[in-house]
Parts: sequence; C-alpha cells; structure tokens
Amino acid sequence: MLIDIGVNLSSSRFSGDIENVLLRAEQSNVKKIVLTGTSVTETEACIELCEKYKGQFPGMLYATAGIHPHEASSFNNSAINAIAHLAQHPSIVAIGETGLDFNRNLSPEKMQESAFEAQIELAENSQLPLFLHERDASKRQLEILTSYQNSLPKAVIHCFTGDKRTLFSYLDLDLYIGITGWICDERRGSDLQSIVKNVPLHRLMVETDAPYLLPRNMPQPPKNRCNEPANLTYVIEGIAAHREESVTMLAESSSATAIEFFNLGSWS
Ligand SMILES: [Zn+2]
Repeated sequence: MLIDIGVNLSSSRFSGDIENVLLRAEQSNVKKIVLTGTSVTETEACIELCEKYKGQFPGMLYATAGIHPHEASSFNNSAINAIAHLAQHPSIVAIGETGLDFNRNLSPEKMQESAFEAQIELAENSQLPLFLHERDASKRQLEILTSYQNSLPKAVIHCFTGDKRTLFSYLDLDLYIGITGWICDERRGSDLQSIVKNVPLHRLMVETDAPYLLPRNMPQPPKNRCNEPANLTYVIEGIAAHREESVTMLAESSSATAIEFFNLGSWS
C-alpha cells in the first residue's frame, strides 16, 4: 500500500475526472492521499473534495491548509486568520504548503518570508505538522527554520530537489523529506538520484505532486501529460532503484512514516 503526500487535486486539469483519478489510485494501491492547499481558496476547494468523496472513498482523502510562496503577495492578517479557521476542519492534517521560492519570485521575497513565519507559528499553535516548499532559497529557508528550532513542529520538505549539503542541513533540523517523480528524470534528476540514499528510511515519504512531474520512467505516458496519484508506483520504483532497496519495503516504510507524521489513523 502507498500514501501520496502531495496532490494538487483541486487543479483544473482534474476537473470532470476526479472520481476516475481516485478509482485508478485505489487500483494502484494508493490508499491515502494528502491534497495540497496553496491559498485560502484552494484550501477551501481541497476540503470540499475531502467532504464530497468521503462516502465513496472512506479514509482516503486529507488536505493541508496554507499559502504557497507563489501566493504570498495575497498574504495578510485576514488570510492567515482564514487558514487558521480552515485548519480546524477534521480533514486538515498539516499547515502549508509554505516556504520560500526564489526561483521564479512570483511574490516578493519579503512577503514570502512573512507568510512563511506566520504559518510556522500557526503550525506551532495548532499542533499540526508543516508541509514545506523550497526552491532556490535553501539558505534563507534554513535561517528561518533554525530561528524557530526550539519550537518547530514536525515538518516535511516536499518535492526535495536540493543538493547534498542542503539535504544534510534539513536532516539536522529533524525534517522529513518528500520525494517526487523528479527522481525519475534522468536529466534534471541526476543529483537527486545520487543523494537519495542519504535520506534515512524513517524520514522518507513519497508523492506525485500531480498533475505536475509526470514520472519519466512510465512505459506509456498519457498523451495529456497529466500526472495522477496512481503513478506513485513509478516514483517508488525510481527511489528503490537509486537506494538499492525493495519496492515493497519502501512502500511499507513510507506509508508507516506518513501515517505517523500526518496522524492519518490506521488503514480503513
Ligand atoms: Zn511545492
């Protein structure tokens, strides 16, 4: 069994097909899925999806509540209050995704930092773990996380794509590491392929980041290039190959880690 800890199911690329996406996930043994909240509106949409499908797919869908760094220009007091309110919903299992993205700087850096710090504090206060994003901003992200070190809740760096030094710095802060289909990309994933074995087994979780990051090891990729949770099997295969571990062992371990990290309850 598998748990996909990062899926953007509220994306318009899935509209009209969500039931089939979840059925295919179930057939691929992806039994639990954590939907990624990236703004107040998207978090509301994720909660709606959890509610809508809880009868047909009991115990399968959960969500995070947060403001993505790309959305940080919309951050203000009323936004963080709205996230704090949404975080009380029983489907919400983490705060985020939050962090810093200096790759495209779609929001000003200072706004990203304010939104990030407010969400770290919200996670502390609400006793929820943090779902973190970081791209080309590891130095500042580490400084901010370190400044909260004594009170930092459990946190996972989702879709880790950094270098070895950054990996060890995050592990030193007791962070968990989320690995996506980036590992299956023989071009831009080569650095990750060489360092993934340095992630301790009990700190490793897996995700598709669907609809993005279609695994390049799929024998027959879909024509629309849309990734989905059922393809988590290819991500696991990619990780297993580069860690020289068995797929079964990785599936069991990453699922147990996700259940404990997000407090997902037992298999339903
Ligand atoms: Zn992200």
